[in-house]
Amino acid sequence: MSKKPRVRFAPSPTGGLHLGGVRTVLFNYLFAKHFGGDFIVRIEDTDQTRFVEGAEDYIFETLAWCGLEPDESPKHGGPFAPYRQSERKAIYREYAEKLVAQGYAYYAFDTAEELDAKRKEVPNFQYNQISRAALKNSLTLLEAEVKSLLDAGTKHVIRIKMPANEEVKFTDMIRGEVSFNSDQVDDKVLLKADGMPTYHLAVVVDDHLMQITHAFRGEEWLPSAPVHILLWQYLFGLENMPEWAHLPLILKPDGNGKLSKRDGDRLGFPVFAMDWTDPKTGEKTTGFKEHGFLPEAFVNMLAMLGWNDGTDNEIFSLAELVEKFSMERVHKSGAKFDYEKAKWYNSEWIKKLPVSSYRLQVTGMLAASGINIDDNKKLETVLELIKDRCTLLTDFVQQSSFFFKAPETIDIAAIQPKWNEQKNMFFLELIRAFELMQSWDHEALENELKELAAANQLKPGELMLPLRIMLVGGKFGPHVFNIAEILGREETIKRIQHTLQLLTK
Ligand code: GLU
Repeated sequence: MSKKPRVRFAPSPTGGLHLGGVRTVLFNYLFAKHFGGDFIVRIEDTDQTRFVEGAEDYIFETLAWCGLEPDESPKHGGPFAPYRQSERKAIYREYAEKLVAQGYAYYAFDTAEELDAKRKEVPNFQYNQISRAALKNSLTLLEAEVKSLLDAGTKHVIRIKMPANEEVKFTDMIRGEVSFNSDQVDDKVLLKADGMPTYHLAVVVDDHLMQITHAFRGEEWLPSAPVHILLWQYLFGLENMPEWAHLPLILKPDGNGKLSKRDGDRLGFPVFAMDWTDPKTGEKTTGFKEHGFLPEAFVNMLAMLGWNDGTDNEIFSLAELVEKFSMERVHKSGAKFDYEKAKWYNSEWIKKLPVSSYRLQVTGMLAASGINIDDNKKLETVLELIKDRCTLLTDFVQQSSFFFKAPETIDIAAIQPKWNEQKNMFFLELIRAFELMQSWDHEALENELKELAAANQLKPGELMLPLRIMLVGGKFGPHVFNIAEILGREETIKRIQHTLQLLTK
């Protein structure tokens, strides 16, 4: 690549970030970093009716969680500031007026009521090449009329004048040649009555001013591409137009259409990156982070939704993704979302990472369930021991609580059917043996139990399950002697005694 790429993620801050949005960020980031370029975040907030409190902060928090830090943004600053379009309002009018002066756009004076009436009268009404001839705009009014309306400060918008029957073509990095007929596209508003640009004008002007070289965005923006290409042609003679890449959709698990937040609610999995609470309705949508996903796993899983490195390898760190990423290997068709597979990535990353990297998050989850950790070393030992059994970070809570707090309930029913006086005697003897043991480690504990079992003509297998239930409360957890080692002598004996009492009641 001759020039270092400058790519941008250009979200409208209207709510939580869908995993498709994060994947767009990721592909932008991987491409830029692969070639040593810059990743820019530009906030496209020109539609003030859709402004949502907190949505911008949420975007930056999500990117930070994923480790996808921008080089330039409203938060990080940069040479092309401001990066929030609402703060760039004054820039856009000049471009819109230039288009009008050159005959590529026009003023439209139709009021909202007039257009509403049209919509009622004509099904699927569109302001386009045909209907514009009968509407109130600078193409139908006399020049003097237009001037006096403008002089009087009459509210108006500026619309693009779509040319008749023109093939608008461009090369998409994923799809190759893409072509549209201009007749299929309506005369989009470029500048609104409040002086704010619409997305169409702002995206083109800002990609130009910010010297964006490649524009990656979701496939849902493909229908808008002809408008953007024409604007690039009219305003800048197509010079330095970014290369476009429309990323395939992330599909519902059954492959039937785009994955939505509602699918997640219905099927019980997150679709947003992090928890999001709508400030207006109070509605809360859960996120991957709070479901117990590691950012490494989330990012890895997203990369594989639409890309692979050409081998069977599926586990990649962000640094490896940066090194291996290539647009040639991005798939053309949509990728089905598979929650079980997402969890598999997480379990692999739980095993792969040092427990110190997620200890804090687990500490927070344990605290939320009423367990406060004051011994970090013990927690790390526990996490190391149980990590192979955990798919989500939330699983650590169930798998580790009993190390810090005696179980509230003991599954006596699972012991009772095979319980007898001989076993009772055995455990009383075991307590005595444990009291006298020199070293308290899992091997010594196991030997002790086995020897004692042999002396009593009992099979160790029959004793291990009751012992486990005494220590843990149920039939789960890692190797029982490892549990006893970590619990320590006093606590182990206490728990055995407690269950023996329950059994003799
Ligand atoms: N503001 C658009 C969005 O909300 C950006 C589309 C683009 O990247 O051009 O997704």
